Amino acid sequence: MAADEFRILGRRPGNDESLRFERGGVAFDQDCFHVVAGLNAVDTREFVEATFRALASHGQSCARMGAYKPRTSPYSFQGYGRACLPWTFELAGKHGIRVIAMEVTRPEHVDEIRTALREAGGPASVMLQIGTRNTQNFELLKEVGAQREFPVLLKRGFGITLHESLLAAEYVASEGNRDIVFCLRGMKTNFGDPHRNLVDFGHVGTVKGLTRMPVCVDPSHSVGRRGGSPDGLPDIFHVAAQGVVAGANLVLTDVHPEPARALVDAAQALTLEELPWFLEDMAIAREAYDRRRAAAARARGA
Ligand code: PEP
Ligand code: MN
Repeated sequence: MAADEFRILGRRPGNDESLRFERGGVAFDQDCFHVVAGLNAVDTREFVEATFRALASHGQSCARMGAYKPRTSPYSFQGYGRACLPWTFELAGKHGIRVIAMEVTRPEHVDEIRTALREAGGPASVMLQIGTRNTQNFELLKEVGAQREFPVLLKRGFGITLHESLLAAEYVASEGNRDIVFCLRGMKTNFGDPHRNLVDFGHVGTVKGLTRMPVCVDPSHSVGRRGGSPDGLPDIFHVAAQGVVAGANLVLTDVHPEPARALVDAAQALTLEELPWFLEDMAIAREAYDRRRAAAARARGA
């Protein structure tokens, strides 16, 4: 895999500046660090507001909120869709949440989000999430690439090579939109059992080396369950820290005021009581990364 295959996103001499963009005063590049915690799926107004309030009280300006949910079973909850956008955006504005990661599965969803944001008076902005099941939905990639209003958080495909997923990101960029975050979320295989997916955060530095994209890790979908080790740390914390110690720029994490009542992926949501602990743990991991980077600079005589 050579970086020059990724004509726009690839890191190579003369094309080695980190991609950089900003929404709602929040900047994203290969040096930034943000936790993007929130509901896997929007459910009740009370739970959405409790989540935004908790995030804001801990100094967070980003959140995740799913309105359109791609589900394995057609009989599972599919997300409230367009209907929940107005009040979700209104509540984000009320609590000062400035960027919301929200999955879209078809181009019409982008229009619905744009319209709802405009009607709500532009209280927040949205980062369009392309889920792992749509990493190679090339027509969707071209659509989100052909607009510049919203950045794109592209999940790595869970059953394809890294090369193929990076080319999927290149699809978005090739249509004009370079405001892209690449998200590792684990690979689908039973070799990761009892985790939901096999954690692939060893690729954080690899993706930053091959491309100029900020890199996100999603410990919730990687691990998929509560439970952890005798040191008192849940596996989700351990895995998230592994990504952050390696230089991840964003951490996408499911939280819920009452995980047992979450309509999607209840098993993997952290509680709002655990949120400050998780944020502290991530800050410790980020500090370790900063120290590791300083040591690397010294060792290289920089
Ligand atoms: C999600 O983040 O809500 C999600 C569905 O993730 P993935 O596409 O990685 O399964
Ligand atoms: Mn999910």
